[in-house]
Amino acid sequence: MNRLSKALPSPLTTTPLATQPLYISAPDAVNLVRRLGIQNCIAGMAQHIRAEFLRWPDFDKSARVANHSQGGVIELMPISDDTVYSFKYVNGHPQNTAIGLPTVMAFGVLADVATGLPTLVSELTLTTALRTAATSALAAQTLARPNSRVMALIGNGAQSEFQALAFQHLLGIDTLRLFDTDPLATAKLVTNLSNSGLKLLVCATTAEAVQGADIVTTVTADKACATIVTADMLTPGMHINAVGGDCPGKTELAAAVLDRAKVFVEFTPQTRIEGDIQQMPADFAVTELWEVLSGTRTGRDHDDQITVFDSVGFALEDFAALRFMHTAALTLGLGERLTLIPHMVDPKNLFGILLNGVSCAVPQKLQRCAVVSA
Ligand code: NAD
Repeated sequence: MNRLSKALPSPLTTTPLATQPLYISAPDAVNLVRRLGIQNCIAGMAQHIRAEFLRWPDFDKSARVANHSQGGVIELMPISDDTVYSFKYVNGHPQNTAIGLPTVMAFGVLADVATGLPTLVSELTLTTALRTAATSALAAQTLARPNSRVMALIGNGAQSEFQALAFQHLLGIDTLRLFDTDPLATAKLVTNLSNSGLKLLVCATTAEAVQGADIVTTVTADKACATIVTADMLTPGMHINAVGGDCPGKTELAAAVLDRAKVFVEFTPQTRIEGDIQQMPADFAVTELWEVLSGTRTGRDHDDQITVFDSVGFALEDFAALRFMHTAALTLGLGERLTLIPHMVDPKNLFGILLNGVSCAVPQKLQRCAVVSA
């Protein structure tokens, strides 16, 4: 085992409980991904997500809670098993980029179920892009034709390079056919992936990009019932990885595409509200990804079948991603202890900290996690 693979957390390891949560900042997350390598992080997260999906019945699951506004949505995504709880805060504001903010921003928490003590507070903006790409690739590994080599990538914004690299490394995609309504977004992707080894073809329309593609990834941001992919663009055996339609009134696929396809989802009650299938009748047949991964139900039935992964993002993916980041940060000595919980000699004497000042289980100043791990 080399040094890098030793540093990569293995799925389902238990992160030691510390008295104050570890804090992984955005710069820490960047540092972590650069040290482990982005391909290793995506592959590691895919492994973690698979492992957690395989124990699906262990989790207390619910559709995320969404607060909608005219320009976007803010969502909370909780989930837990018997020992670990997590939640993610995430927004979706497609107009944000015009004012210099990302469309999607996120952070999340891990906590100990037995005591409720938070164990991790982490950035999740970068991590969401990694876990979304990992989930998309994991789904495509079981649903796309194994000889898929060409992918259309529609929407070339913040998530797109992560999707591209996940499909290159986990599926063997070697050619990307690119389209975005914003040519500058595509130019940015081409620059970012110029040394990736991927063949990058810039197309003038979605219809042109989809031609000859084995896999079509749609990762656009528009709070509208869009029809990015229409039925006339489909060819036998195509797999569609629909990532951007993830909110009521925000879709990417024409209803006729869903009618022609076998459709796979993460968590049905959430996807019926948020996914592209929000356009379909309430009894529209879907298969959950965990059922395919566990062998309970079949994925693709034959080579000519059209498959759709109607991805909206489910809390279990963030649970897996947070645990990956937690273990990796502890292993690499990254992050800081956040003095979040006041420590009291008498836990019933909360008022006393106002009289006597806060005493902390770790020194009051933020401390490198390498000093306090246990
Ligand atoms: P972004 O704003 O950075 O990029 C979106 C891109 O889509 C932009 O470049 C925009 O020009 C392009 N676009 C908009 N309409 C288009 C159209 N009709 N045709 C082609 N391109 C179009 O956003 P992002 O962070 O990359 O996120 C993309 C989408 O993915 C968002 O809708 C977000 O909510 C969703 N998302 C889903 C998941 C999930 O788990 N399913 C996770 C993260 C993000």
